[in-house]
This record gives sequence, C-alpha cells and structure tokens, in this order.
Amino acid sequence: MSFGGHVIRTRKIGIMGGTFDPIHYGHLLAAEESFFALDLDEVIFVPTGKPPHKKTRRVSSTEDRYTMTLLATLDNPHFKVSRIEIDRNESSHTVDTLREMRHWYAPDSIQFFFITGLDAVLDITTWKEYTALPSLCKIVAVNRPGYQVGKLEQLPEIFKGNIVPLEIPLLSISSTEIRRRIESGKNVRYLMPELVERYIYKKGLYKRIGR
Ligand code: NAP
Repeated sequence: MSFGGHVIRTRKIGIMGGTFDPIHYGHLLAAEESFFALDLDEVIFVPTGKPPHKKTRRVSSTEDRYTMTLLATLDNPHFKVSRIEIDRNESSHTVDTLREMRHWYAPDSIQFFFITGLDAVLDITTWKEYTALPSLCKIVAVNRPGYQVGKLEQLPEIFKGNIVPLEIPLLSISSTEIRRRIESGKNVRYLMPELVERYIYKKGLYKRIGR
C-alpha cells in the first residue's frame, strides 16, 4: 500500500481462535510456529464466548478461559489476548469477529490469518456465512500427528489456496485429555504453563461434581 508517496507494508495478523478449556503448550506452540512460518507481526488469541456448536458438554466460564489464556501468554511480547468474543453477549461466530476486528485497522493495511485446529477447520461448512471467510482471512489449519490433512481437499472450491496446513508435533496434547486427567487425579505437569495449572487447581476446574 502507498500513502503520501511512502510504501506501507501490509501487517500480517494471526488470530488464534479456540475454546481454550484449558489452553496448553500445543496451542502456544501452534501460535509461535505460525508467527515464524508465516512471518506474522503478532498473534491475537481470541477465546470463544458462548460456542454455538458446543451444546453437549459444560464449558468453563468465559472469564476462567480468558484468564487462563492471559496467564499463558503473559511472557510473550508478540502475543495478545482479545475479549472481543468474551464480551459479546450472543453466540460467537468467526465471520462476525473478523468483520469487527477489520475495523480496528486502517483499510487495506492488514491481512488476517485465522489459526485453529484442523479438526475445527474440517467442520467449516457448518459455520455461519462460511463462504465469506476466504475474503476475510487465510485459514491456518494446525494439525495433530495422525490427523488427515488430505481431508482438506474435500472442502468446497472457494477454500482452494485459502487454507494453509501447518503440522505441530507437540499438538498431540489436547484440552480434552487434560480435563480427563484432572478429573481422574492424574498428573498434568508440563502440558501447560505452570500458572495455568495453578489457576485450575485454585478454581477447582474440571473436577467431577459431587466428589
Ligand atoms: P475447539 O474445541 O477449541 O477446537 C477444535 C479442535 O481444534 C480441537 O482439537 C482443538 O484442540 C484444536 N484447536 C483449537 N484451537 C486451536 C488452535 N488455536 N490451534 C491449534 N489447535 C486448536 O474449537 P472450536 O470451539 O470448535 O473452535 C475453534 C475456532 O473455530 C474458534 O475460534 C471458534 O469460534 C471457531 N468456530 C466458529 C464457528 C462459527 O463461526 N459458527 C463454529 C465453530 C468454530 P484442543 O481441544 O486441544 O483445544
């Protein structure tokens, strides 16, 4: 972009969307790897508000998930956390979040890279106004070992050239596995930053009710 004769470089912003219940080293490594692999300027973590698609299990409160995300990212200067979905009172939809975030920046001055898990990306045709997403962002599909990147081929034509697969070996850690371990009293040390682990114990998160 040119402004008053000066060439202004388009800033590349990573947006790391997830439930983060809890956030763990897999997420942090995915953000850091994306930062370097895609030459991003910063990564903004966006914990989901009320996930529209998670009706089957109890999700920790938005404030707990936001606080854990903040604690986990404190020491990294190019990580930020946004309350944009947390503070929205209705369901969180990525298309609305990206449209709103676009207005934080001068027109045409940025490019968004929406980073999330491959399994979430494979469900993308169920998301609100999914056909609008390629015009708003590139999608970075972070892969766990053993998941099939080939399945991305089955997504509609509009996503061709729009999805960037990225494999992170450490992502074999999962939030679901961490919650199960805590519920059954197993060790979770070294799976997430220590501050997040302490917060979970202090707040009594993921314990089986009635024990
Ligand atoms: P999730 O349960 O948080 O994650 C789905 C899968 O992706 C899980 O395996 C998860 O691993 C992994 N994952 C999540 N965030 C990741 C990240 N940033 N980097 C690497 N792996 C990640 O996902 P979700 O609630 O389905 O949502 C993911 C994102 O998609 C959110 O931003 C959400 O708002 C968006 N989404 C939007 C719509 C919509 O617009 N209608 C619908 C669905 C999802 P862990 O279990 O270890 O976290």
